[in-house]
Amino acid sequence: GHRNKSDAPCVKERTLIAVKPDGVQRRLVGQIIHRFERRGFKLVGLKLLQVSKDLLSQHYCQLTKKPFYPDLVDYMTSGPVVAMVWEGPNIVQTSRMMVGHTNPSEAQTGTIRADFCFHVSRNVVHASDSTEGAQREIRLWFDGQDLLSWDCIDKSVTSEL
Ligand code: GDP
Ligand code: MG
Repeated sequence: GHRNKSDAPCVKERTLIAVKPDGVQRRLVGQIIHRFERRGFKLVGLKLLQVSKDLLSQHYCQLTKKPFYPDLVDYMTSGPVVAMVWEGPNIVQTSRMMVGHTNPSEAQTGTIRADFCFHVSRNVVHASDSTEGAQREIRLWFDGQDLLSWDCIDKSVTSEL
């Protein structure tokens, strides 16, 4: 490649992004995917699924004792979810910035949550909050064989790093 060491992209990182049931029902899947595509990130896994209570309790294992957990289960099982794995330099931190604050009313304008919702109980999208969390969640939601590594046929005409 033409890049020198100092501006070389950091190690490929992956994160779990999920469009929650309200996002699917409000037909926001395309707009959410678009934001990750236009940023230059790479889609390596995608599925529509009905989430089980068992998967949720593992996914949200730190939240099961919270008072809002029963409502969170009802919310997250109220319809299908679109689960995705996206890849790119520093994607865990960047995607948290793209998604915005957990409470949409505190989210920065321009973030997904600020632009598409107003209440913490219906906040449209999930993004892993750390690299360790991302690895754990990706293993939980996807079989390894369903994650694909792929290359652009002509990197010179894309933003691919
Ligand atoms: P996230 O990482 O920004 O999604 O936030 P957390 O991991 O802290 O919480 C997971 C999800 O639980 C949030 O995205 C919300 O959907 C939900 N949640 C968090 N806090 C509350 C709350 O106070 N009330 C309700 N109803 N849901 C909440
Ligand atoms: Mg979280």
